[in-house]
Amino acid sequence: MNQEKRKVILVGVGFVGMSLAYSVLNTGGIDELILIDQDEQKAIGEAMDLNHGLPYHHPHMKIRAGDYQDCKDANIVVICAGVNQKPGQTRLELTKINADIMKEITNKVMENGFQGIFVVASNPVDIMSQVVWETSKLPQQKVIGSGTLLDTARLRYYIGDYLNIDHHNIHAYILGEHGDSSFVPWTHCYVGCKPLLEYLDEHNKDLNDLHAIYEKVKNAAYEIIDRKKATYYGIGLSLNRLLQAILNDEHSILTISCLQEGNYDLNKIFIGVPAIIGREGILGILNLELNESDLNKLKQSSLVLEEQFRNM
Ligand code: NAD
Repeated sequence: MNQEKRKVILVGVGFVGMSLAYSVLNTGGIDELILIDQDEQKAIGEAMDLNHGLPYHHPHMKIRAGDYQDCKDANIVVICAGVNQKPGQTRLELTKINADIMKEITNKVMENGFQGIFVVASNPVDIMSQVVWETSKLPQQKVIGSGTLLDTARLRYYIGDYLNIDHHNIHAYILGEHGDSSFVPWTHCYVGCKPLLEYLDEHNKDLNDLHAIYEKVKNAAYEIIDRKKATYYGIGLSLNRLLQAILNDEHSILTISCLQEGNYDLNKIFIGVPAIIGREGILGILNLELNESDLNKLKQSSLVLEEQFRNM
């Protein structure tokens, strides 16, 4: 990784891309942010708009519209390009069109000698990450899909709200597809250092409430899209969290989508699991002792993705 300057390329400056850019602008920690889009005028306009806020923020950050030659010495290329879900549409319905866009973008990035880390947000994100990995031929640790990062944030938010406990102290994770076959391994969820299920029992709370919370998380994107056509702030903040973990070599545990090679008995498929994230990308996968029911759910979720990937 380029240690002298932290350079991030953002491909796709729509709702999601610009929510990430705005979030990064507020956090700082990046020296150079370069915006690329097939709509070049939009990328230029967005760079102008962001730059005009710099005097009140991080003056050392350089932001400009660029092209694929800029990828050569970049630390990270984030892909947020592609079509988004329309009301009533599932993420999986976007597969073919976005896969072609991923291949086109990845080839252009790699032709310019990129050796950094890809972060993929375009949907269906598990499949798009696998397309980027296969096209780029980079080591698997260097291709990270946003996976269930946002779903996990939504889960923590709703559980924290339900228990009236700071969501930072809710250690709960969503695993599997970033989509309808995801699930929560409840026996691995904690409130502070206390198992969530024990906490619930102790406070006479109903287990069914947790299932209702999961349903709320699963349907969140559909609900938001019905109301305002797209979801972007939550994913923008989640992607910024992932970028900071990489750039600051945090060794943080985040639920991202990455290649499985024998973990959880899964092979050659990108799917969301908790992983350790640092400067070199994915440093390791946290192998949970899942019970039979959760292992089955993970398997089912991987079958959904495998079928979609095969029929693409
Ligand atoms: P958008 O339509 O607002 O923006 C997409 C941008 O991509 C546009 O600016 C478009 O010009 C650009 N683009 C399209 N094809 C391109 C190409 N070949 N090269 C360069 N740029 C290209 O869409 P959005 O709402 O920002 O969503 C972007 C993607 O993010 C969608 O696939 C959406 O489903 C996904 N998304 C993911 C999550 C997640 O949790 N991973 C959450 C929300 C949205």
